[in-house]
Amino acid sequence: MANCPENTRLHKFISFVFIIALSSTLCAQAYARGPYSYTGVELQNAVDEAYEKFKGLKDGKNADYIPILATVPSELFGVVIVTKAGDVYSAGDTDYIFAIESTSKPFNLALVMEEYGPEEVQEKIGVEATGLPFNSKLAMELIKARSVNPLVNAGAIAQVSMVKAKNEEERWDKVFQNMKDFAGTELKVMDEVYESEITTSWSNRAIANLLYNYGRLYSEPEDALRVYTKMCSVGVSTTDLGFMGATLANGGVNPKTGKRLMKEEYVHHLLAVMLTAGFYDESGEWAYTAGLPSKTGVGGGIVSVVPGVLAIAAFSPRLNEAGNSVRAQEAIDYISDKFDLNIFKPRKLPAVM
Ligand code: GLU
Repeated sequence: MANCPENTRLHKFISFVFIIALSSTLCAQAYARGPYSYTGVELQNAVDEAYEKFKGLKDGKNADYIPILATVPSELFGVVIVTKAGDVYSAGDTDYIFAIESTSKPFNLALVMEEYGPEEVQEKIGVEATGLPFNSKLAMELIKARSVNPLVNAGAIAQVSMVKAKNEEERWDKVFQNMKDFAGTELKVMDEVYESEITTSWSNRAIANLLYNYGRLYSEPEDALRVYTKMCSVGVSTTDLGFMGATLANGGVNPKTGKRLMKEEYVHHLLAVMLTAGFYDESGEWAYTAGLPSKTGVGGGIVSVVPGVLAIAAFSPRLNEAGNSVRAQEAIDYISDKFDLNIFKPRKLPAVM
């Protein structure tokens, strides 16, 4: 009985050590950023569920105005979440390499913002949403900026022409290196996609020439057209696209390589353009439902960013009328809804820590 108080103290000390050890293990397992808080198991379950739920959807069809895109197997489907810490949760065909197309545009915009700053981007390209299709010439006549915004074809050709370089080769090298840095891995141009697209680029050629005519292109039109088309022909996997988005979620630093690719204070400008113009003429509907800054591409890819938290990327070739992948958008919308990721919603999930 005499050493009872000591036993109690020892008991308390052991309990204390046990609680600390247990909570650190839980903290290590949980992915928590402020009020956002999900375990790896929950994130994996979410991508698995999204994949299972929408893999049977047959709506839409492959893009065919770029002939080679019509030959991509329509059943492919991949869904991935990449957290700002670089953790990856994936389901389906996430290693399949497809043409990045317009999902490249926000990442090149990051490069242009680094070179010029956000004000000059606003002035030299414009940041207004149109509600019109991505290759609209009418929008170029209606909107004073002509180039409209950096995520439609006119603005994207304009932003490529702004990349500072002595010549076309140097411009391309910078554009390509920046894409590889965002993905945190080596990437390749899909030569067949480039050939298929550049030989049928009459609409984009008209856009480049119109921009030049209005003094809103900053290199020779054919030079800008070639670099732009090559940028769209780069092959990525859904996971690569996830890392590109996660770099934006992580304030401009690639979580895989630790390399800073844009200033943190510029990221919100870029995300604002993604929210208002990233889903072509369905950007309003997408903001209304999923509520996430995103960019889609006619190759079937979509990348969405939850600022400061994670990115979701999905890929499936069948597109709806506006040019957005049917399955990919359903999958992302499902995950957004499941975790209340919509940036306009107050956070509902309790913090783990
Ligand atoms: N390279 C494609 C084009 O210029 C990109 C379109 C897209 O993905 O929205 O038409």
